[in-house]
Amino acid sequence: MLVTVDGIVIGRRSIGETGCFIDVLTDEYGVIEAVAHGVKKLTSKNAGSAALFSYSRFCFSKNGVKYTLNSAEPKFSFHGISSDIEYLSLAAYFADVLKDTVASEQENAGMLRFAAVTMYELDKKRRSLDLIKSVFELHISAMLGFSPDLRACRVCACYEHEKMYFDAVNSCIVCGDCVQEYNAPAGLTELSPELLYAMRYIVFSPVDKIYKLDVNADVQRKLSLLTEEYLLHQLDREFRSLDYFKTIKL
Ligand SMILES: [Zn+2]
Repeated sequence: MLVTVDGIVIGRRSIGETGCFIDVLTDEYGVIEAVAHGVKKLTSKNAGSAALFSYSRFCFSKNGVKYTLNSAEPKFSFHGISSDIEYLSLAAYFADVLKDTVASEQENAGMLRFAAVTMYELDKKRRSLDLIKSVFELHISAMLGFSPDLRACRVCACYEHEKMYFDAVNSCIVCGDCVQEYNAPAGLTELSPELLYAMRYIVFSPVDKIYKLDVNADVQRKLSLLTEEYLLHQLDREFRSLDYFKTIKL
């Protein structure tokens, strides 16, 4: 059976001298692992389309759950990512999160577009690494179904308050009036109005707007701590690629 599908290559492992396994993120089939024969040869017509972080239209032969690449037409190449080791290692962390969370053979509408918009930002390098990382971590949390409830105070339902607190365990917020009577299971993080605005913006904005968030350095510092901790807590795991990103980031 032939399957034609748009996707982004988010992983590549060598098979012998000339071939590779490629992991391709798609909306229709989740992450597909496919054998790509000969793509390491310079003369291969699929070399560019099957390169890491290429966004292409793929044609696979499917036999049971095994995929083999037949051909691919490039749609967009995010080749700028690999020109900078910091952006490249952040992309590697994002790819690991996607591989870890997106199931194969399951439809995942919107994930490909989110990944493409993210790779575009990494490619263009218009925004800081910290901003891209925070937006990715919090928005993908929401897309995976564990969005924090940022709509209003869990107790009194007020939308705004000069002091709000984030409960990462229960994924909700509590206002300054209710915090005393609130039985928090673990520590709460204080959220300034600017920090809460940034979190709401990342969770509730359409995907083509999420990276347009503008925050000052102080808010960014707090946002970075919060989004990373939240995603890792929800996934209950660590990523070596994230550790590597942190060691090389200036
Ligand atoms: Zn309240």
